[in-house]
Amino acid sequence: METPQLSSLYQQLILEHYRNPRNKAELDEKSVEIHMANPVCGDEIRLQLRIEGDEIAEAKFVGQGCSISQAAVSMMTTKLQGAKLADASMLAERFTEMMHGDEAAANDKALGDLRALQGVSKFPVRIKCALLGFDALQEALKADGQESTH
Ligand code: ZN
Repeated sequence: METPQLSSLYQQLILEHYRNPRNKAELDEKSVEIHMANPVCGDEIRLQLRIEGDEIAEAKFVGQGCSISQAAVSMMTTKLQGAKLADASMLAERFTEMMHGDEAAANDKALGDLRALQGVSKFPVRIKCALLGFDALQEALKADGQESTH
């Protein structure tokens, strides 16, 4: 599938993350691992988090797929290092709102580089690509919560 037409600055940022993904590696000690796939586009990621107390001590991923899916998860993991679980959950909510066309979310500076993906919200088939990493994050946060109640 072709990459949608985004502003060239944002497109460069997306391609830069796609070509040089951040935090793309296996985590030695992980608290939780979530596999998530988007069969429509062939995107796949495994998100791995090491959670200590109420913080994400480390976040890494492995995966393959289109530039949007891989750049989004690369950008996401840069925001997750040392993040409080509550902030990570908030980030996932804000990003999801932005991808569903929410202007206030799109202007939220907390999203940082992730705002480069805002233009993708105009291309419904690609929204799933952008959300793949955050869907995995939300599952991971849920899974961690369940474990601690045992
Ligand atoms: Zn994709």
